[in-house]
Amino acid sequence: MSHPDNTQLVEDAKRQLDEIVAREDPLKPKDRLAIPFQEIPSQTPEERIANMDEVALGYTPEQARVESLRCFDCKKAPCVDGCPVRLDIPGFLRAAGEGDFREAIDIIKRNSLLPAVCGRVCPQETQCQLHCTVGKSLKDVNKSVSIGRVERFVADWEAEQAEQDLPEVKPETGRKVAVVGSGPAGVTVAADVRREGHAVTLFEAFHKPGGVLMYGIPEFRMPKRIVQREIDTLRTMGVTVETNFVVGRTRKLSDLIEKDGFDAVFVGTGAGLPKFMRIEGENLVGVFSANEFLTRANLMRAYDRKNADTPISNARKVAVLGGGNVAMDAARTAVRLGAEEVHLVYRRTEVEMPARVEEVGHAKEEGVIFHILENAKRVVGDEQGRVQAMECLKYELGEPDDSGRRRPVAIPDSEFMMPVDTVIVAIGNDSNPLIKQTTPEIETNRWGNIVVNENGKTSMDRVYAGGDIVLGAATVILAMGEGRRAAASINELLASE
Ligand SMILES: Cc1cc2nc3c(=O)[nH]c(=O)nc-3n(C[C@H](O)[C@H](O)[C@H](O)COP(=O)(O)OP(=O)(O)OC[C@H]3O[C@@H](n4cnc5c(N)ncnc54)[C@H](O)[C@@H]3O)c2cc1C
Repeated sequence: MSHPDNTQLVEDAKRQLDEIVAREDPLKPKDRLAIPFQEIPSQTPEERIANMDEVALGYTPEQARVESLRCFDCKKAPCVDGCPVRLDIPGFLRAAGEGDFREAIDIIKRNSLLPAVCGRVCPQETQCQLHCTVGKSLKDVNKSVSIGRVERFVADWEAEQAEQDLPEVKPETGRKVAVVGSGPAGVTVAADVRREGHAVTLFEAFHKPGGVLMYGIPEFRMPKRIVQREIDTLRTMGVTVETNFVVGRTRKLSDLIEKDGFDAVFVGTGAGLPKFMRIEGENLVGVFSANEFLTRANLMRAYDRKNADTPISNARKVAVLGGGNVAMDAARTAVRLGAEEVHLVYRRTEVEMPARVEEVGHAKEEGVIFHILENAKRVVGDEQGRVQAMECLKYELGEPDDSGRRRPVAIPDSEFMMPVDTVIVAIGNDSNPLIKQTTPEIETNRWGNIVVNENGKTSMDRVYAGGDIVLGAATVILAMGEGRRAAASINELLASE
């Protein structure tokens, strides 16, 4: 696939904007439809596999305006129905199209606390952009207005301004709230509760806050400075951040209320427990969960071999099992760490892959070899217990299963060997089990997820929960939405007392 010339993209947008601005009559839908879709400038595959920097470089102001002007500003705004937090999408695109980026970001921030994050990692193609009338008119969802890219642009634009717009914090109320887990759910609750003037302490098990945004999603998709900026904002607002603090071990959940004087607790501990295949050879040296592999690479900066002490295997031939975002992130990280071959093994077809289409495209461009309708049967080791190969089976698709996706069925006697020295298992995550194990009074379902009511309240008095620990492994925007709901309930509870 040929890579667009970044300089050309930028120049084209300037010319296109000049032409639009010079028009005397207002834009009609057919004029908007004729405005060219703006590709995002990005690193070429050859450049980016040699570094960990962000792949997409972001729109220029002219590109953001031109792309926004493609929006029909529909009365019914079907895009808003596709957004889990119901951003006023036509509103912020209208402002961005006029070049009023301050107004655009202010509109977004009414509903979303993490626009620089969501603009980068939300699956817009299956949410807002799926419903976009422009994409529908052009009969191509890939040509919908790039809502996420404009969101990202205005969020980055705001961060570059000398004057930072800090959220207002009401006078101190004397009430105390504990937030357990510092992923998107916890960060959202901390901000929303703190704004009401309550004292907030954010407890995080890792040595760095940010959740999956910090330890899971790689730098080339989610620059850590952006996550750090959100944490810094919380600190400036007066939130206390306690790292290396494992609720359930360092302190029991019930003790936070009964002994430490917190008036309410939010649990946003995520889904960080990796699932394994349960096949022969999975305990061999060279088999990793994607979580471990990505945590070493991202949080512990193993990719920075010169400066970081974190060991990571020198993988040459890697097999990644799975077809979600986590699998793509692991495969693309392995490429950047210098693997000669990276094979992505998925037992369904590309149509059923849960990963974002963009990530699949990027992985292919970066040389990841896709094996669809195949799966591991066992991992084979050498006499030292190190991975030597993976025995695989071929699959075909049968009837749909409970998820609605067609069930993969192994083809008898289709075994074959794939020579590899590293296997990364990325087939999903379960909820973190520690709170459940150490807090018997909290109700969980059969998957170990915490059960909450429509207000985000758990079975325990004064304890709320949200994000992946409630939903199972889901998305950043859903975690943020759950956080907002729980924070509103906590604020209501404290205001009523
Ligand atoms: C590799 C990867 C790629 C992904 N890509 C995307 C994507 O492109 N788009 C998207 O929308 N979603 C993506 N997701 C999913 C998304 O990141 C999650 O849905 C989201 O982060 C969930 O937020 P959360 O706040 O519920 O939990 P998390 O982000 O998991 O944060 C939970 C935090 O709680 C901490 N914690 C756990 N137990 C305790 C304890 N007992 N005490 C104190 N702290 C504790 C954890 O250390 C962690 O920091 C991806 C996930 C992974 C793993």
